[in-house]
Amino acid sequence: MSSIRTARSRLPGEFVAELYRAFPVHVAERILMGMTKRRPVTLRVNTIKASPREIMEELRSEGIKYRRVQWYPDAFVITNRRERDLEQLRSYQEGRVYLQSLSSMVPPLVLAPQAGESVLDIAAAPGSKATQMAALMENRGRIVAVDVDRLRAQRLAFNVERQGASIVEVVAGDGVAVAASSPEAFDRVLVDAPCSGEGLFLVDDPATYRPWSQKLRSRSTASQRRLLDAGVKALKPGGFLVYSTCTLNPEENELAVDHLLKRHGGLLEAVPIELDMPEWSPALEQVEGRILGPSVKHARRILPSEIMEGFFVALLKRTG
Ligand code: SAM
Repeated sequence: MSSIRTARSRLPGEFVAELYRAFPVHVAERILMGMTKRRPVTLRVNTIKASPREIMEELRSEGIKYRRVQWYPDAFVITNRRERDLEQLRSYQEGRVYLQSLSSMVPPLVLAPQAGESVLDIAAAPGSKATQMAALMENRGRIVAVDVDRLRAQRLAFNVERQGASIVEVVAGDGVAVAASSPEAFDRVLVDAPCSGEGLFLVDDPATYRPWSQKLRSRSTASQRRLLDAGVKALKPGGFLVYSTCTLNPEENELAVDHLLKRHGGLLEAVPIELDMPEWSPALEQVEGRILGPSVKHARRILPSEIMEGFFVALLKRTG
């Protein structure tokens, strides 16, 4: 209880008030409680270059303790080292492992790209999910990874190179323009959108919530809608699109999906997510009394916890 009180007093007042307006009290308090936790470092084995078995041997020989993750054999939770210690490892420097939060590993697993397919990652830097998708595709097929921010696109190119993800083509530019130039070209599209980042808030780390404002939220909402709309147009009929954010409010999540479905009426629907993960929470079925389109209920939220950051994930299928 005292943790919830501390969270309420330190986080932006407007954010806390909206949390209680948007969610039932027990969910709002679970979220606040999750924001008081310090999460362990987690890593993903880059299966383009190494196997989980090789990495386990290496971790053991370095005295590094780990736990496996039930829903993803390539993921490891490190229990006795910090991020900067792991950055010294050869396996990190040689791109055999990638430091990535567990929640961030979820959208590529939900999108489930297959070897040989063509994939658009419309907002891709620094490349956590683009390189994960290349590994899931056994580095066969094509991933176009776009980011509008030049410096971040350079970081993306560096990570792609270090991970040996040779099927990833990095484009520094506006994802909307890239998508518009390739109508109905991709089997799968990932829209891991810029967002207000509420799922990453840590009560003890003001840098995680200082940038938050209503303005940031509105700006993010506008980019999300543009990127989503463009993403749908770049999708082949029968293709799949994952929309994900690391934020919690319904405006950037359920309402973004609802808006998209209404805009592309009949062409697109949200479909059930098959990844079986105990951390899933249901999406909201109504927002401020507004009933959402019936398929929005298939989206899922991850609430912040001692192991996971807050995230939202929706899987959409282009039907027409
Ligand atoms: N998917 C990335 C990963 O897993 O490493 C994280 C993406 S981050 C949540 C959102 C990214 O969207 C930022 O790098 C930002 O520069 C980029 N972005 C924002 N607007 C964009 C646009 N119009 N076109 C392409 N990228 C954009």
